[in-house]
Amino acid sequence: MFLKARHMHPIRHDFRSDTVTRPTPAMRAAMAEADVGDDVYGEDPSVNALQERVAAMLGKAAGLFVPSGTQSNLLALMSHCERGDEYIVGQMAHCYRWEAGGAAVLGSIQPQPIAHLADGTMALADIEAAIKSDDMHFARTRLIALENAFGGKALPMSYMEVVAALAHSKGLALHLDGARAFNASVALGVDIAQMVAPFDTVSICLSKGLGAPVGSVLVGARAQIDKARRLRKMLGGGMRQAGILAAGGLYALAHNIDRLAEDHARAKKLALGLDQFAELNVEMPDTNIIFVRTEPDLGERLVAYLGARGIAVGGLYGTQRWVTHLDIDEAAIEAALDAVAGFFARN
Ligand SMILES: *Cc1c(COP(=O)(O)O)cnc(C)c1O
Repeated sequence: MFLKARHMHPIRHDFRSDTVTRPTPAMRAAMAEADVGDDVYGEDPSVNALQERVAAMLGKAAGLFVPSGTQSNLLALMSHCERGDEYIVGQMAHCYRWEAGGAAVLGSIQPQPIAHLADGTMALADIEAAIKSDDMHFARTRLIALENAFGGKALPMSYMEVVAALAHSKGLALHLDGARAFNASVALGVDIAQMVAPFDTVSICLSKGLGAPVGSVLVGARAQIDKARRLRKMLGGGMRQAGILAAGGLYALAHNIDRLAEDHARAKKLALGLDQFAELNVEMPDTNIIFVRTEPDLGERLVAYLGARGIAVGGLYGTQRWVTHLDIDEAAIEAALDAVAGFFARN
């Protein structure tokens, strides 16, 4: 497994993902005090407040609180596409590659994956060539899905706008997997509502860099979100006194967005430090995720060496993933760089 710790050493600094953060005492207090009701009846005031808050921040009409980003993306795909329809998506996009084929399995929606360019975008000509004409031989292309931030990169506003123009000129909808949309917005210096304006639906994760324990929110037009709410019930995502979770999300939105810039600065510092070692091929991050490529055997040994010193890093086939987040401070960056230096002093 990519992210599962493969060692028995206690973890002191966990760089595997920004999902590993634990709620702070202040966030827990907000959760403990949350006003709650039955959200399947639409009666949980904290869930309603969260949904309205995210919709307003993102400039959309309505929002829906869901258990995970995976379910949020699936609801978006299923609310845009019927059985036998198709979505165009990046080959390495989370909602194609990392969601267990849910769109195909549960939505009967055919993915049309497209290769990424080196900068993480898809070539416009490739997207356009994949849009199928109205012909009974073809699945009906209905949707294009983008992801931003994507693999630590903040894809530029101009890219999102040009793909939106193409999608809408062909009568297709546009979805953003914005699990880390706030990271992208902070990195681009573009207000979140302006950043997601080109999209019909947007999914954001509260449980990544924002530091809440659970949950995602899908936003879009009211009719779209009503459809997604019905599908959420179908998929078993209707939760009851979910306001306890929503309160963690509201707390995260109020306190943990601006500070994402710190995570990005620490990621840059870490990346520059790792880049000092000739054996490490470091992708400079715009946001909080760094990918490092190494010769696979060396990478395995490095990850094991760090793990034995309480520094957990994601690793697979010669690619390591380092992620900065709320629980990674300056001392953690120093400790990590010292440990890497220690490894190379011996290897
Ligand atoms: C984490 C993630 C998701 C899915 O979120 P879960 O809550 O883990 O299901 C979707 N898209 C991207 C880009 C992610 O990083």
